[in-house]
Amino acid sequence: MAASLVFRLHDRGPDVVREVLLERGWEEYDEEERGKEDWNLYWRASAFRTSDYFKLLPWQRLNHHPQTVGITRKDCLARHLRRMRAAFGPSLYDFSPTVFILPNEYLHFLTEYNKGPPVYWICKPVDLSRGRGIFIFEDIKDFSYSCSVIVQKYISDPLLISGYKFDLRIYVCVKSFHPLTIYIHQEGLVRFATEKYNLSSLENMYSHLTNTSINKFGPFYMTEKGRVGQGCKWTICKFRHFLRSQDVDDLVLWQRINNIVTLTLLSIAPFVPLCPNCVELFGFDILIDAKLKPWLLEVNYSPALTLDCQADITVKKRLVGDLIDLMNYTSIDSLREKAYQQQTRQPCLPAVPVISKFKEHKVQKKTGGQSSQPLHQAEKMNPRQCAFVSNYRRQLPPVNLNKIHAGRGRQTHTSLSKTHRDMNVNRRPGLLWRTDELLVNRLSCPALAPRLMENRSPRASEVTNRDDTETEAELELSGETEVSSKIPDIQKSGPGFRRSVSCKLPNIYSGSQRPGGTHLEGQHPPPLRVGGFIRTFPFNTATLKASQQKLDVKTIIQELHKLTGRVASNQSDRTQRRTVEEEPKDTEGEGEFDSLFLLCSVSASN
Ligand code: ADP
Repeated sequence: MAASLVFRLHDRGPDVVREVLLERGWEEYDEEERGKEDWNLYWRASAFRTSDYFKLLPWQRLNHHPQTVGITRKDCLARHLRRMRAAFGPSLYDFSPTVFILPNEYLHFLTEYNKGPPVYWICKPVDLSRGRGIFIFEDIKDFSYSCSVIVQKYISDPLLISGYKFDLRIYVCVKSFHPLTIYIHQEGLVRFATEKYNLSSLENMYSHLTNTSINKFGPFYMTEKGRVGQGCKWTICKFRHFLRSQDVDDLVLWQRINNIVTLTLLSIAPFVPLCPNCVELFGFDILIDAKLKPWLLEVNYSPALTLDCQADITVKKRLVGDLIDLMNYTSIDSLREKAYQQQTRQPCLPAVPVISKFKEHKVQKKTGGQSSQPLHQAEKMNPRQCAFVSNYRRQLPPVNLNKIHAGRGRQTHTSLSKTHRDMNVNRRPGLLWRTDELLVNRLSCPALAPRLMENRSPRASEVTNRDDTETEAELELSGETEVSSKIPDIQKSGPGFRRSVSCKLPNIYSGSQRPGGTHLEGQHPPPLRVGGFIRTFPFNTATLKASQQKLDVKTIIQELHKLTGRVASNQSDRTQRRTVEEEPKDTEGEGEFDSLFLLCSVSASN
């Protein structure tokens, strides 16, 4: 019988993750009982340290990709979207309200402010979440700030339900950044303000902010509020039913939201280092205005998973379960130490932290192909890890970097040679899928080269755009304290290695389709649907190709344009699409596999 899978929760939370995993037969990690590396999934609300990515072993996975702060911190997101707008045009990147990062851009803000006509502005601290420190103003006399903030145009004509403002929390899972693979959950939350929208009382947070963390303490939280009802949350399904009952075409709205998600993630994808053992759940906050235009307000690093009401229970338990299914754990993942011991006897299984391959690549580049630096110095490994990795690397055919660079201009993106991949394929099929190596893929488009400051990787403690309910003190300490800096002892059997419990392991993927892997082998698209998660990128053959090897943003954007046109021209045909009862088949390998319509039709028919 297989050993159990083990999860490790930072700071004991979130409870729903524990609950879902325990129900599936997982065991909770206990440092005193188990070896340091004896776990399969490490979940934390705050950021991991860079060294945590380096230390990853083949069976270990983390719930954050490295450096995604590029979209989850308000000022970083503003910069990335601005850069994309400059490169690809304001008509495409028109989904985020005009924004200024202060104090640096104070004069630009003043110029815009003075242009008129009078508008409302919202000021938000760059690194806080849950509505903390936010205020709205019309007159600059009412504006003062004492920390880094963004000042954004306030969407003053939001769509209202029974007079109440709301926004949407869309759950997005990035299965991989290389190649970019995005899933959107068909369920999500609608979060209402608990007092009627009123522009003459800008200081009333219960009227203007839709954060649950604020509204659940509002005086009208439990009051019946017209169609909104009690409380402050709906599910997205309920919302879409409501839209249809009002004769609103939710298909077009959904397609626009999908585009926002893809375009936002495209802005950082080239800068996220490859780490195939990671998966990340983002919370996209979308506000819909009275003209039904969706606006991106922010992207949450650790969307809240607390269960405050029935809508939370309906949405979040399923969400976490689907996320685990998407990670596609199988019994091979439970063979933690055993697999590692086998590797040390037969050092062919590439337990190489892939980020370190990136480093090696850079060192090789500098030294004309041969790294002169000892491995352990270059990659901060202990001698035992070093021997293991060197043994592995000795078996790789040399990569001709000159050839790669000559052929690809500025980009530094490469992949395993065919022989290299074949070698892996012949070794340990069970663990292969996390070993494909794609080094960081930079765009060749100069307009996209980030400025130094944008590319700065903030400390873990700066990644604070999370709306879970950790304490502020914990926020400040995030990522810096907990993870052991001790190197795992690969020869010692951990005391916690158990073989007795079998886990419920979903069998939703076949063969090469394991979602943890890349698409490179056989160029198959990842599964179209896993539970409530629908793949929204890549959404057809062209975008699948454009996301492999080198992220071809231009082609992807052309395809998004085409798709938008197609949705618009198919509007009249929507009744037929809405009545789709069966889940469309995954047309893997065929011409078009338009997951967008699946997402729209599935949600609409629920
Ligand atoms: P936080 O990370 O603190 O939650 P958000 O950017 O999500 O910050 O803003 C909090 C709330 O303020 C949103 O849920 C929304 O209701 C409101 N809000 C934020 N930005 C705008 C905007 N530009 N226009 C209208 N309302 C906004």
